[in-house]
Amino acid sequence: MSEEKNLNKILWQDFKALSLTEKGSYFQGSPAHTLIAQQFSREQLEELCALATKIRRIAKRREGGNFLRTLLSDKRAMLYFAQPSSRTYLSHNAACQILGLVTLDVRDSKTSSEVKGETPEDTIRTFSSYVDMIIMRHPVGGFCERVAWMLSNTNRPIPVLNAGSGADQHPTQALLDIYTLARSFEDLGGIDGKSVAFVGDLLRGRTVRSLAWLLSLYTDVKVYFVAPKQLQIGEDVLELLDAVGMDYEATQDFTSVMPKADALYMTRIQDEWDADGESATIDTAAFSINKEHLDILKETAVIMHPLPRRKEISTDIDNDSRAMYWRQMRNGMWARAALILTTFGRQDEVNEYYADNKPEA
Ligand code: ASP
Repeated sequence: MSEEKNLNKILWQDFKALSLTEKGSYFQGSPAHTLIAQQFSREQLEELCALATKIRRIAKRREGGNFLRTLLSDKRAMLYFAQPSSRTYLSHNAACQILGLVTLDVRDSKTSSEVKGETPEDTIRTFSSYVDMIIMRHPVGGFCERVAWMLSNTNRPIPVLNAGSGADQHPTQALLDIYTLARSFEDLGGIDGKSVAFVGDLLRGRTVRSLAWLLSLYTDVKVYFVAPKQLQIGEDVLELLDAVGMDYEATQDFTSVMPKADALYMTRIQDEWDADGESATIDTAAFSINKEHLDILKETAVIMHPLPRRKEISTDIDNDSRAMYWRQMRNGMWARAALILTTFGRQDEVNEYYADNKPEA
């Protein structure tokens, strides 16, 4: 197979043509890039969640924190964020710090030689000379895959971690969402058999697109896509879910879904992708939650949001025990630390430390 064809194979728009086996196996190579949700198996997710918990518990004590900081103290990472970000940037940065990995950053491509006419690929190849990993957010969907492919074909391949690409994928957010769901349902039989309602702008919400796929790896999960019809989930995602026989329903009726959901995954309107302010004409009032709705939710339900929020979650429910969005953010730091450590293949050092020291829960 020619290199050009292979490159095309890993672009999202061509990705759906691949069989699931090809999707799962493509990224198992070295270096271990993290590009799209479809690359994860359930087993890998479970290992990452277990590792995140061990890191979280070890980090509670000073000697544990000191141990964790030795794990990647010989590595450096570049945080290349060519799109606005505060949480995802800080969360990856904090995850790197927990593991002792030094970070460098570029947060505005206008400050790089791209303004002198350099191609983005050359710019990133230059950055890659100084570091051992690139954590990247980019407005162009498929760009991370392009960079990963380019770096894999150099004599110094380093892993690329997608921290949000265009309106298509956000695999590390989906990973932390799985970690949050797994923790929330720990005493309720785990994620299997649960109902998850995605609410809001599902068409352009990259976190939803990535998480919907990861949920298909669990048994008997039912998904509700609740959105105004103009912002309903993309056909490409539904085709993937159909291919694995996932049970889902697309609806505009949020009130009827509320009492059935074990998890509500709220999202904001992604109007940065509007061509001409068209989202402003859509009535989204019915796709929000406030104190009045709390009585009809299950007592064990969790309310999640990738944040930032606008009006879709009223602040008057922030202190309800089911509001999970703040804890979800903190979970992101542990889940990303687990992913970064695994990318460098050093997870067994944590497993051994944990077995020897048995930190408290
Ligand atoms: N922070 C998430 C993202 O980067 C969600 C959002 O921006 O609405 O996609």
